[in-house]
Amino acid sequence: MHDVLIINGTVVDGTGSPARRADVAISDGVITEVADRADGDGLAGQAANQTIDADGHVVSPGFVDVHTHLDAQLAWDPLGESSCFHGVTTAVMGNCGFTLAPVRSDARELVVRNLERAEDIAAEAMAEGIDWSWETYPEYLDFVDRTPKGINYAGYVGHSALRTWAMGERAFTEEASDDDLALMVGQVEDSMRAGAVGFTTSISLNHETSDDRPVASRLSTRAEIGALVEAMGRTGRLGRAAGGRTGIFELAHHPHLRSRDPEKRESYIAWLVDLAVRTGVPITYGMLAFGSEDHQWRPVTELLRRINEAGGTSWAQVHTRQFGVLLSFQTRLPFDSLPLWSELRSQPMAEQRRALTDPALRDKLVREADEGDYGRAIGAEARKPEWQWVYPLTSGLPPYRSIAELAAERDRPPMEVFLDEAIAGDLERFFIQAAANQDQDIVLELMRLPNAIPTFSDSGAHVSQIMDSSLQTHLLGHWVRDREAFTIEEAVRSITSLPADAWGFADRGRIEVGRAADVNVFDLGAIRPDLPELVHDLPGGARRLRQTASGFLATLVNGEVLVAGGTPTGVTPGHLLRGPLSDR
Ligand SMILES: [Zn+2]
Repeated sequence: MHDVLIINGTVVDGTGSPARRADVAISDGVITEVADRADGDGLAGQAANQTIDADGHVVSPGFVDVHTHLDAQLAWDPLGESSCFHGVTTAVMGNCGFTLAPVRSDARELVVRNLERAEDIAAEAMAEGIDWSWETYPEYLDFVDRTPKGINYAGYVGHSALRTWAMGERAFTEEASDDDLALMVGQVEDSMRAGAVGFTTSISLNHETSDDRPVASRLSTRAEIGALVEAMGRTGRLGRAAGGRTGIFELAHHPHLRSRDPEKRESYIAWLVDLAVRTGVPITYGMLAFGSEDHQWRPVTELLRRINEAGGTSWAQVHTRQFGVLLSFQTRLPFDSLPLWSELRSQPMAEQRRALTDPALRDKLVREADEGDYGRAIGAEARKPEWQWVYPLTSGLPPYRSIAELAAERDRPPMEVFLDEAIAGDLERFFIQAAANQDQDIVLELMRLPNAIPTFSDSGAHVSQIMDSSLQTHLLGHWVRDREAFTIEEAVRSITSLPADAWGFADRGRIEVGRAADVNVFDLGAIRPDLPELVHDLPGGARRLRQTASGFLATLVNGEVLVAGGTPTGVTPGHLLRGPLSDR
């Protein structure tokens, strides 16, 4: 008697091998049999507690998203929204140096200070929704372990948390002393032995606190970062379960990588190549194009190539579409801080609707939007619109038409078209503002590079600013089905066995006997992200964006159906995945 049988489906097993008709049996959370239909009748008719008829559907491994910020959300959301709706069964947390541990019990506000603005996670949600039962990173992992979870989670230990834990307020203003560094090194080693999958940092100017200061990791020198990465490499060589492995080092890049000055670029690239080769630690980072000019995206491809050619290991994290800030009257608009607009936007929605029908007032608003001073936006904050990169979001997948195109077609000023479109959607419509990855030909070129992994959803962060938990369904619906840019086998491999192997999740990422039964059953003809929606359900009532998907018959985690036909079933089968250096 099997626990679950998935029959009549087309298995795309995650290795890149050709799709084949096969039935899959699952018991005790593990795949116990894969029977090819070419060899006979498969497993149809055998006894099982649950049989899923996958006729006309792809049966693939669950997807692995290695770039999320679900660290805080995990405390109040047992499912793993919105990733769980897009086939993600394993999420890696703690990217870019932002973790909730280690933390001193008398200085939690310092950890929150690092996260709140840089990742747009409401401080009141973190205060209300988290029980803060930990101080060290190993204690945080124990919290993750005992918390009911829909999907599987793994975590990195983050530099900003480490630094504020070791240095207190000085973390935001000073270089680390030898004593500070010794504390941090010890905690990195302890974290790796407890099952962290690596160490992360940010030296990106996009990461600021709510009072306009750099987050703590940005105060570190290259020597400090080097010492912490070395500590991770050392733990790997000593770790008894490691078999020569180390953890992974993730970083959010300094803009020197994209500098117009070749010397700055070379110094930065040479530093990371040396670090990767010297420590033997794999390095991973986002590979976005911040515009179409060569210096805005080619250097990161050079970094990837040079680390791997020099004998190090590097994995680039690619997005599958534009890095889109979502604009709407319900959430935020680029114009919100301009004087006339800020007055309008403080009114109830009905009043805003009425104001836009007053021709004289509308004229003034349009003029201010066209000519106003927008100041400086960081990260995923709304910025002055470039209308060729702003699109009304009327469908979960492209083609999208830009405001500039619509304006040319209608012979109207772009700002008028933007308002027309917003009003046509009853002021509830979202618009995508591409803040990076504007050119989809470059996006495709990046996705095709060796060692490029489609990930970087940022799930759990930027909760009212972006909604990229759908990047996997975008890959399958747009690039595989609609554009035929990748085969289904290639695309599934890139979001299953490729990241699972690289991050050391040895028992995941393949439909194969003995592997954990994280499985997606989906209709390639129908798979697509649905339109995002706004909900107000964070602890304390704060708002967030939510996005579901169409085309999934079922998503299984450790052999249990987590989502059936788009609806959560209420089970919590997810595990904490401790990293390869764990001695637990
Ligand atoms: Zn991040």
